[in-house]
Amino acid sequence: MPEGDTVWQAARRLHEALAGKPLTRSDFRVPKYATVDLAGRRVLSTIPRGKHLLTRIEGGLTLHTHLRMEGAWKVFDAGERWRGGPAYQIRAVLATSDRTAVGYRLPVVELLRTTEEERIVGHLGPDLLGPDWDPGRALANVLADPGRQLGEALLDQRNLAGIGNVYKSELCFLLGVTPWLPAGALPADRAEKLPGLAKRLLEANRDRPVRQTTGLPRYDLFVYGRAPRPCLRCHTPVRVADQGDGSQERPTYWCPTCQTGPAPAPGSPQRWRDKYPRRAG
Ligand SMILES: [Zn+2]
Repeated sequence: MPEGDTVWQAARRLHEALAGKPLTRSDFRVPKYATVDLAGRRVLSTIPRGKHLLTRIEGGLTLHTHLRMEGAWKVFDAGERWRGGPAYQIRAVLATSDRTAVGYRLPVVELLRTTEEERIVGHLGPDLLGPDWDPGRALANVLADPGRQLGEALLDQRNLAGIGNVYKSELCFLLGVTPWLPAGALPADRAEKLPGLAKRLLEANRDRPVRQTTGLPRYDLFVYGRAPRPCLRCHTPVRVADQGDGSQERPTYWCPTCQTGPAPAPGSPQRWRDKYPRRAG
């Protein structure tokens, strides 16, 4: 799952490349839209909503795409060779006279009426990088199920939109609690900090090619991807274990000294493989 800042960067790339210009070519390499041709229509905008990308096109149409783990939108100059992967991984092409946006490995490519966007994104909680950001409501959503593990509540896009697996671990480190802490057990002073901290993390990173949460020159992240290296603060080996409901387990990192709260016992089974890229975009 991409983090909200990755999606924000992709939306900006698409917006800068296409908005305001008529399409000279469209090509959807998914069976349902294989015959759709949007050439001649102007692209109005591309906006991120949570982890969804909405590209609005003249005539009341919206192209909805989602990157999930593997997808990416690349932008090339006209005539430039496309370098984003083999051709069979291309799902969508939108070209104007001078730029071409190519969507690789997109698990979701969907055309809908712009008036129907709410069907796609209406369930999302307040968006950390969006105009609808509402810290009070986001926190209330996270705490609404007091028995739920904090890490799970933070990942749930219905509570607040934009946090992926990297920021889940980093945010829990900054709050000083483990991701397994029941949300209702989060001390009031930390709960108060949570929405602002989450927003600052995403905002600070939306223009950066490499995620940074530490503010330290040589270290990008406090705990994510660091196990079993020492914690940057206290030198205790950082630990990693799966967190999830069984259907989706995600590698979750924490420092057993800096973070209080429940956690899996050392040596408990881990089914993950660390293939999550640390680079954004
Ligand atoms: Zn530590």
